[in-house]
Amino acid sequence: MSKSESGEYQSLRPQPGPIGELFAPVAGFGVTLSSMFRPTVTEQYPREKVPTQRRFHGRHQLNRYADGLEKCIGCELCAWACPADAIYVEGASNAALPENAGLQVNADDSQGAHMSPGERYGGVYQINYLRCIFCGLCIEACPTRALTMTNDFELAGKTRAGMIYEKQDLLAPLSEGMLAAPHPMVEGSTDTNYYSGDVLGPTAAQVDWVREHRPDDETLDAADAVASGRAPAPEQRQHELRPDEGPGAAERSAGAASVGSVRVLASDAAGSNRPGVTA
Ligand code: SF4
Ligand code: SF4
Repeated sequence: MSKSESGEYQSLRPQPGPIGELFAPVAGFGVTLSSMFRPTVTEQYPREKVPTQRRFHGRHQLNRYADGLEKCIGCELCAWACPADAIYVEGASNAALPENAGLQVNADDSQGAHMSPGERYGGVYQINYLRCIFCGLCIEACPTRALTMTNDFELAGKTRAGMIYEKQDLLAPLSEGMLAAPHPMVEGSTDTNYYSGDVLGPTAAQVDWVREHRPDDETLDAADAVASGRAPAPEQRQHELRPDEGPGAAERSAGAASVGSVRVLASDAAGSNRPGVTA
């Protein structure tokens, strides 16, 4: 608006001519009409799921080495790095595993049962997804690349406690050819060999150890094929969507209908008083 010499305010906007005034009442439909002939961009979620960008920050995953041992060493660096206090970790000693009862297993000994290479593993691991802001600082802090983030964004729950994901919810599934832990490290190796990527799959000695201690283990046959050279080395997966099979899959599909991962832990119904992060 500007003030004229006569003292009246006048609009600075160009005034429509006679034709403009004629179509003024329906001018707003111009946007609608022009949009009608453009390609549809509406995503039909959840019936159609559009892939995220590759580096999307979704649900976390605890990864494994190619022989099936866990990468997490229970160091708690991820928990200390988290600005939202969303992670709770309790480290545990490999030497204290039940399979090592009565054995003299040293901290850096590759023999005896191990959940992860070296001295310790993550005994308790929880992430509270009511607190997590998906900043990724935890995965930057992890010294072994045990912790990464997947593209799984379907995180919802019916209870607050159910949004605390436990270790079994976060652990990467065993790829074909991996040997389920616990079992000894590759004979003669150190944790440095694991970090350096020297371990490419299970060995015959590891397969024999598991066969002796858990003869019914379902991963034995595939691991034996890798160890004897009849099958290729297992694939180490780090950034995949959560599989539709494995631990928790039934809960997710039952609770989520077509929307995704609504989950209620059995312990929630019992009102358990779990340690660690609170809801
Ligand atoms: S992504 Fe950020 S907020 Fe979430 S657990 Fe990791 S550090 Fe904490
Ligand atoms: S995920 Fe990484 S940083 Fe966190 S406890 Fe395990 S090894 Fe340490």
